[in-house]
Amino acid sequence: MTNKIKMMTPLVEMDGDEMTRVIWSMIKKNLIEPFVELKTEYYDLGLENRNNTRDQVTIDSANAAKKYGVAVKCATITPNAQRMSEYNLKEMWKSPNGTIRAILDGTVFRAPITVKGIMPLIPSWKKPITIARHAYGDVYKNIEMKIKKGSKAELLVTDSNGVETKGLIHDFYDSDGVIQGQHNLNISIESFARSCFNFALDTKQDLWFATKDTISKQYDHNFKDIFEDIFAREYKHRFASVGINYFYTLIDDAVARVVRSEGGYIWACKNYDGDVMSDMVATAFGSLGMMTSVLVSPGGAYEFEAAHGTVTRHYYKHLKGEATSTNSVATIFAWSGALKKRGELDNLPDLITFSEKLETATVETIEDGIMTGDLYSISAIYGKRKADTEEFIKEIKTRLYI
Ligand code: NAP
Ligand code: MG
Repeated sequence: MTNKIKMMTPLVEMDGDEMTRVIWSMIKKNLIEPFVELKTEYYDLGLENRNNTRDQVTIDSANAAKKYGVAVKCATITPNAQRMSEYNLKEMWKSPNGTIRAILDGTVFRAPITVKGIMPLIPSWKKPITIARHAYGDVYKNIEMKIKKGSKAELLVTDSNGVETKGLIHDFYDSDGVIQGQHNLNISIESFARSCFNFALDTKQDLWFATKDTISKQYDHNFKDIFEDIFAREYKHRFASVGINYFYTLIDDAVARVVRSEGGYIWACKNYDGDVMSDMVATAFGSLGMMTSVLVSPGGAYEFEAAHGTVTRHYYKHLKGEATSTNSVATIFAWSGALKKRGELDNLPDLITFSEKLETATVETIEDGIMTGDLYSISAIYGKRKADTEEFIKEIKTRLYI
């Protein structure tokens, strides 16, 4: 290829670990570098380098994402006790995704990649359902206590003037029990709302939001009010001009509607609802290997990644020289998503077209019956064939007409 597509602003590239690191370089070599004069600012978030830099590299990469606006991230190991000895770590470094999220602040959107021949377990689902999960507070930042019989538990708030407000939680006069304190912040809920409204405009899909406001008249109702207020003041007209809707309902009603729907919208969820519902939606759509994830920050930065981990079991097979059949689709879509966003921000139509062609070629490969093991076991495609990790990527390349 003589005329490679040129880029303007560098893409922040966050390399990672294990099988996904192997896939990462295969994708670059076969599907990107032959067609694009790739300009990236490279950060090696592999566990070894995070350990060598005392995790400074993760912080630097997040700041680069903030500066340039678009990043693509490979899956990374979050260390636990076993990884401490496996990698001889100086410290049990924190989850890179947690660190990056804390710096960029934002909302994680997860969407399945749908292909013909791999049917969702819910037959009415024709289009993807994107889950937007609020990633701050509630039960994830709670305080809990076990309470002894005979105790009285109260909620106590002291304001800046020292004035106290009390509320009785429960008088445990006849039984032991448990209590829990939760909080959230209006600034966090506001940025969650704006991320959701912006993402709906970006992708031209309706936005649904649901809480349990009938039962939780202060806490959940606050979420509902903030969404409604920001929508009315900042987004109503923009939604109307693009022809999309915002709609709020009770969480029970949302669950029932989601199951009966044909998909094609964004479902904004409070932290716990999003945690649980994203697993339900991913499983019902088929495979973890087909789920993309993008972090959208209120400051306008985007970080694209696959929703799955480093696929450790496959990596150990790979190290032993055994054939693997690891699904690279979500990682390919992280690259295409990031390049497309870079193209949009820098006004590079060729880069946008390339990203779309890469996605089409990937989907076509599977629809032609060539797929990795995870899809092979659930696909209804006639004459399907199981490809190994690299073979699958090379098959995509033969379908990429630039
Ligand atoms: P995982 O890497 O997602 O893999 C769990 C299992 O799901 C795999 O063993 C495999 O099943 C299947 N799978 C996942 N992705 C696949 C793909 N692309 N193609 C084919 N099969 C796929 O989760 P994990 O084993 O719990 O975690 C491994 C490491 O990843 C951990 O160190 C964890 O910290 C890290 N992690 C990172 C991220 C991130 O960076 N975003 C997210 C989650 C986990 P079979 O073995 O049955 O084939
Ligand atoms: Mg979960």
